[in-house]
Amino acid sequence: MKRNKSFTDNKPLLYLVATPIGNLKEFSSRAIEIVNECDVVAAEDTRNAYDLLNKFGIKKELYSLREHNEKEASQHVVDLINDDKKVVYMSDAGYPGISDPGNLLVKEMLANDIAVSTISGSSAFINALVASGLSSKHFYFYGFLSPKDNEAKGEINSLKDFRNTLIFYEAPHRIIRTINLLKDGLGNREVCLARELTKINEEYIRGTLDELSQLEEDTLKGEMVIIVDGNKEETMISDDEITARVAYFTKLGLSQKDAINVVSEEFKINKNYIKKLLF
Ligand code: SAM
Repeated sequence: MKRNKSFTDNKPLLYLVATPIGNLKEFSSRAIEIVNECDVVAAEDTRNAYDLLNKFGIKKELYSLREHNEKEASQHVVDLINDDKKVVYMSDAGYPGISDPGNLLVKEMLANDIAVSTISGSSAFINALVASGLSSKHFYFYGFLSPKDNEAKGEINSLKDFRNTLIFYEAPHRIIRTINLLKDGLGNREVCLARELTKINEEYIRGTLDELSQLEEDTLKGEMVIIVDGNKEETMISDDEITARVAYFTKLGLSQKDAINVVSEEFKINKNYIKKLLF
C-alpha cells in the first residue's frame, strides 16, 4: 500500500489538466495558473495544445505524448520530472485517460514514485449524462465501440442485460450506424444523443433508438455522446445464473459483499436471497 498526499508530501508531481470540450471559458483559472508555472506541457497533439495555450497568452515547451508513443514518451516524462522539471499533461479535449491517452502515463508515474493530480474540467460523458434525463444513479461508461460492425455487435450483445444507463462515444460519420446497431442489439430503448456540448450548436436529441435511427445523417454534425437506457425488462433469472453472476464479479476483483450488492442492484433481487444461495 502507498499513500500520497498530492500537495504536502513534497514529492514530484504530474498534473493531468482537463481541457475544454468546446467552450474555451471552461479552461479554468487554476488550469491557467498551473500551466503557467510548469516547464513543459506534454500533450496529445502539440498543435492543438499550442493553439489552446496561445489563446491564453501562454508559451511553453511542448512535448508530444500520444497513443502511439505513450509508453516511451511516459518514460521521457519521468526523466523530465526527475530532472526537477515541472510537467503537465493534456489531451485534446476533456480529461486525459477518458478515451484519450493518459492511463499508461499515470501507471508509469506511479511505478516511478511520482504523484499524480488532476486539474478539473468537463468530460463529454458527464455533461451528457447529467442532462440526458436517463438515470444517473448507476451508469456504465463504455466509450467507443469497435468501428468494425461485427465486433461492435458482440460488444453490444455483452451489454444487453445491464440494468444501468449505458454511455458511448462515437465519431460523427458512424453515428447512425451505431444507433442502428444499438437498436438491433438492445431493442427499442430510450436514448439521448448529446451533440456539440458546450458549443454554440449544443443540442440534446431525446427519443427512442427507433426514432433516432430515422434522423438524416447530415443533421448530425459535430461531436456526440450516446446515452442509452439500461435494460428495464423483467428478468427471470435462475438461481444458478445468480451465483454465476456473483462469481463473475468476484473474479473481476470485487469482494463478495460488493459482488452481491452489484448483482442485487442489477437484477433487483433481495441481497438476503442471494446470500442464502451462496452460504
Ligand atoms: N477525453 C474526452 C472526454 O473526457 O470527454 C473524450 C475524448 S474522445 C477522443 C472524443 C469523443 O468524445 C467524441 O467522439 C465524442 O463522442 C465525445 N465528445 C468530445 N467532445 C464533445 C462535445 N463537445 N460534445 C459531444 N461529445 C463530445
